[in-house]
Amino acid sequence: MPAKGVAVAADVVIAGGGVIGTAIAWRAARAGLGVTLVDPERGDAASLVAAGMLAPVSEALFGEGALLRVNLLAVARFGSFAAELEQAAGRPVGLRREGTLAVAYDPGDYAALVRLTAFRRSAGLDAEELDSRACRKLESFLTPDVHGGVLFAGDWSVDNRRYAAALRSAAAAAGVRVVRDRVTEVLTSGDRARGVRLADGGDIGADRVVVAAGCWTGAIAGVPAPVRAAVRPVKGQLLRLRHPDGMPPVITHTIRATVRGTDVYLVPRADGEVVVGATQEERGPDRTVTAGAVHDLLRDALSVLPVTSELELAETCAGLRPGTPDNGPVVGPVAGAVDGSGPGGLLLATGHYRNGILMSPVTADAIVAHLTGQQAAPEWEPFAPGRFGAEAAGETR
Ligand SMILES: Cc1cc2nc3c(=O)[nH]c(=O)nc-3n(C[C@H](O)[C@H](O)[C@H](O)COP(=O)(O)OP(=O)(O)OC[C@H]3O[C@@H](n4cnc5c(N)ncnc54)[C@H](O)[C@@H]3O)c2cc1C
Repeated sequence: MPAKGVAVAADVVIAGGGVIGTAIAWRAARAGLGVTLVDPERGDAASLVAAGMLAPVSEALFGEGALLRVNLLAVARFGSFAAELEQAAGRPVGLRREGTLAVAYDPGDYAALVRLTAFRRSAGLDAEELDSRACRKLESFLTPDVHGGVLFAGDWSVDNRRYAAALRSAAAAAGVRVVRDRVTEVLTSGDRARGVRLADGGDIGADRVVVAAGCWTGAIAGVPAPVRAAVRPVKGQLLRLRHPDGMPPVITHTIRATVRGTDVYLVPRADGEVVVGATQEERGPDRTVTAGAVHDLLRDALSVLPVTSELELAETCAGLRPGTPDNGPVVGPVAGAVDGSGPGGLLLATGHYRNGILMSPVTADAIVAHLTGQQAAPEWEPFAPGRFGAEAAGETR
C-alpha cells in the first residue's frame, strides 16, 4: 500500500507494547530520546497472560547455561528496576521474594527433581532439599502425600498485570508517544532504517527502529528473514483463582509441582489471586481455552494442594509465548547493522519465550545501551539476532 507520507518523526520508534517494548520505551525516554511506541493494543499480549514468576533457578534446565546467565543478571536487576518503576508510576507492582518451593508427588517425580537439583547446584544455585514434613512446615496446605521437595530461594515473582500497567504509566510520564496501530514494515533507505509503515498506510520516520512484537515479530516485513522464521508462538493456558472474601492465603511461596511426570505451578499474589499454569503447546496462533487443559491444571493443582478446590475460578486464559529454536531471546542490532550487510539502526527485542517478564528490565538496559552508544552486558552476546543464519541475515523480506 502506498504510504500516506511521513506522519511523525521520532529518535526511536518501537513496534510492540508488551512488557518488552514498554520497558524499552520508558528507559529510552528516560535516557533523553524521543520515543514513539506503536501497538494496536491487543488484549492477548503474552505479558498480560503470564504468571509473573521471576525464576532463574527453577527455570534452569540442562543445556541452557547461557540463558541461565541472562536470567541471573535479570533477577539481580529486577529489584532496583521495580523500585524505580514504582516510584515513577506511583503504584505497586507486587514484587515477592519468598522463593519457589518445588515439590514432587511420587518417588519417580522426586528422582527427576533430585537430578535437576544436582545440576542447578553444580551451576552454583541455592537449593535446599526438604522432606515431606519440612515442605508442609513451609506450606501447611500441601498434601501429606507429597514425597519431598526443594526450596529454591533465589526465585521471585511479580504481578505481571500490575507491572505492565506501571510500565505504561511510567512511559507516559517520561514522554513516550503511543500510536494505536500495527507496524507492517520497517522502512529503509540505503543501508539504514528510516522508520516504519503502519497498517493505516502512514509512516513514522525514525533513524532507529526497535521491533519488540513478541510472537508476531515474523509478520513485520523488513525484519531479517531468519529471525522472522525463527520466532514462533508457543501456546500456554492458565487459570486465575481467587480466595473468597475473608479466606487467608493458602500459599506464600510459588509452588512448582511435578505430579506423575506433569508439571504445574501455583503463584500467589498479595491481593489474594493464585495463578495456576501452564500448558506448553505447539498450535500456532491458536488461543482457545480447552476443557481438557482446565481439567488437567486443576487436577494436578488439587493433587498437591487440595484446598485449591475452595478457591473461586476467576479466569481462564491462553497466551502465546514468543519461542525460538534455542529457547533464547533475540536482543540487539540485526547483523546487518554491525557488519554492513543490512539496515543499520534496526534492533530486535523478541523471542523471550518463558522468561520475558523476568528479562524485561535487562532487555531494556541492553537495547538502551545500543541506542546510546554504550556497551550491553556480555551475557547478551549469545543472543544476537544474527545467530539464526549469518548468510541470510542481510535478507530483509
Ligand atoms: C501462559 C504463560 C505463562 C508465562 N509465564 C511467565 C512467567 O511466569 N515469567 C516470565 O518471565 N515470563 C512468562 N511468560 C512469558 C512472557 O509472558 C513473555 O516472554 C513476554 O510477555 C513477552 O513479552 P513481549 O512484550 O515480547 O510480547 P507480548 O507481551 O506478546 O507483546 C507483544 C506486543 O506486540 C504487539 N504487536 C504485535 N504485532 C505488532 C505489530 N505488527 N506492530 C505493533 N505492535 C505489534 C502486540 O499487540 C503486543 O502488545 C509466560 C507466557 C505465557 C503465555
